[in-house]
Amino acid sequence: MKITKVSTAVIAGNFPWVLVRIETDTGVSGLGEAYWGAGVAELVHRAKPLLIGEDPTNIARLMFVMERSLSGEGSQAGVTVTAMSGIEIALWDLMGRAHGLPISTFFGGRFREKIRIYADCHEGDTPDPAEYARRAKEVVAAGFTAIKFDLDNANPYTLDLTDGDHSRRQWVEPFNRLIGSQEMAWMVSVASAVRNAVGPEIMVAMDAHWKFGVNDAIKLAQALEPLDLLWLEDPVPPHNIEAQRLVTHSTRTPTSTGENLYLHQGYRELIEKQAVRIITPDIPKMGGLLEFKKVADHANLYYIPMAPHNVASPIGTVACGHVCAAISNYLVMEYHAHDVAWWGDLVEGGSPLQNGFITLNNKPGHGLTLNEDVAKAHLKKGSSFFGENP
Ligand code: MG
Repeated sequence: MKITKVSTAVIAGNFPWVLVRIETDTGVSGLGEAYWGAGVAELVHRAKPLLIGEDPTNIARLMFVMERSLSGEGSQAGVTVTAMSGIEIALWDLMGRAHGLPISTFFGGRFREKIRIYADCHEGDTPDPAEYARRAKEVVAAGFTAIKFDLDNANPYTLDLTDGDHSRRQWVEPFNRLIGSQEMAWMVSVASAVRNAVGPEIMVAMDAHWKFGVNDAIKLAQALEPLDLLWLEDPVPPHNIEAQRLVTHSTRTPTSTGENLYLHQGYRELIEKQAVRIITPDIPKMGGLLEFKKVADHANLYYIPMAPHNVASPIGTVACGHVCAAISNYLVMEYHAHDVAWWGDLVEGGSPLQNGFITLNNKPGHGLTLNEDVAKAHLKKGSSFFGENP
């Protein structure tokens, strides 16, 4: 079996969903998805000379070749790895279809048939903790058992980066990574409102988007301890693993990070220094299913669970679900398309996400078929539909 064609279609979802199709001379094809980013589809097409004519089942070797050969395009991080991730996922789908087996089988089989999904919720229009509570109840009523809110947005006591007058609120300005006392109290009130709304049985995570310095991140994490959060995500910037470690080891609120790291090497120090409690790779961005499995297995040496970041369409989400099924240390994976009513319509047979879980099927590959009519109807302006050019 030889690869004969590599093509893309970018779907205009809440993010651009970069679908990657790989076809072969036997008629078997695979469909993958890469995380969004400027130039990702172009970079998939740039990799074509490395793929055409090759055996598509030599996935690790093809990734090695792409990483080496696309080094000038930046193949150790960023959009080049993202493009490679979409190719990698398409190759796993193709592998499954060629052998008549679900992707999870190739990763050791399943610990679980149902993949727990958490809903990334957005705050209401008004910066009111009661709005967060209302939204939390709404999402739980839809069947989710795990939810996440942004803790750092819409805070009436936070000045944003474009606000010219930073002098009007004590020591709080948007650049120094400090948290003012009113700002702190507001964040705690939001998290408390959500926890009180949903009760102790629902997993509640909060995201801080790399905003704070070490001491104030510790103050925040400690203030949130009584709420028994699932995690506090990205409390400090990602550059300094020692700083991350200091925060993590100063609180019993679990910390999480990892959505902006690439390839399994990118997670090594974080894991070996036990600088974080939960790791959150974005699989269609960080290198794909096998790279994620390597990170998960490494993390499992330290009993660290995995909670993938995810903004993908059903294609990427379910493909990632297969490797999430195959690791013991899976916690939960994100669903971010709360404002895309047609998310589940992109595949035939309806949404694979029901009542907060994805139940995997036993069909070959990821088990999904693209609904081409829906895909074409939402094709990003200027994108080809699996043509010769991006
Ligand atoms: Mg995040």
